Amino acid sequence: MKVFFDERQNVEQNESFSPSAKKPKACLESWKKIVPVEIMEVTPVTAEDLSLIHDQDHVLKVLSCEKENGFQNKLKTIADSLLWTNGSFVSAARYAVKNKISTVSPTSGFHHAEYKKCIGFCTFNGLMLAAVLLKKEGLANKIAILDTDMHYGNGTDNIINKLKIDYVSHYTLGKHYPTQDEQEVVAAKFLKELPSIVEDLIKDVDVLFYQAGADPHVDDPYGGLLTTEDLKQRDKIVFSIAKEKGIPVVWNLAGGYQDFDVVLEIHNNTALLHKEILG
Ligand SMILES: [Zn+2]
Repeated sequence: MKVFFDERQNVEQNESFSPSAKKPKACLESWKKIVPVEIMEVTPVTAEDLSLIHDQDHVLKVLSCEKENGFQNKLKTIADSLLWTNGSFVSAARYAVKNKISTVSPTSGFHHAEYKKCIGFCTFNGLMLAAVLLKKEGLANKIAILDTDMHYGNGTDNIINKLKIDYVSHYTLGKHYPTQDEQEVVAAKFLKELPSIVEDLIKDVDVLFYQAGADPHVDDPYGGLLTTEDLKQRDKIVFSIAKEKGIPVVWNLAGGYQDFDVVLEIHNNTALLHKEILG
């Protein structure tokens, strides 16, 4: 499993309820114990790159700690990590399309980030940055984003609309299954519908970006939809269909706010299924 990791994308000490900043390294260490991991080189993105999808003044102020990041603080360590977290996803995406091999970016904090606004632990939208760069570099014509974090990927939609992007197909779980009512019924409905959602989404695309968020879990304080087994089923459906259609997957972590060991277990399960299905 090719994991795009650089120490500089990880921040151990953050001032936030979210553990996202320290997840890259924790996941990597955890995965190493259960699957063969190849650590891949990350090329950081630049402020210029980020300005392709965000307001330039906004980008520069966040990077220079004049403006709060997505964690609602102005820590320099977080600001310094942003070019590397986004770089991890972009590097993983470039490699995946060039080599038609699925890759992993141990990153979070992308999908709520709008054109000119950091929201909900998300600073810059690495998903959209990777999509725009792949298109610009001629590496991909069409890109799919399947966002199965519990929450609406408002930032992704915001940037797609703002920049009038017509080559990204986007599905976000949070827009369609926002309710916590009758958890088992909604979970069963989601898993039943997921195969056709994935098939529709990846029609004619060159690559699938998959946010394998841990926060839809039933015990997550911000989630409440899927059991651990359901989440495994989710990953299995996504990976199996992508494999069958020959579409490389670039997956990442997104949200997860309960007991940290359970969050790691959910990401471990995704890694195990990656090995089993995608090789
Ligand atoms: Zn979330």
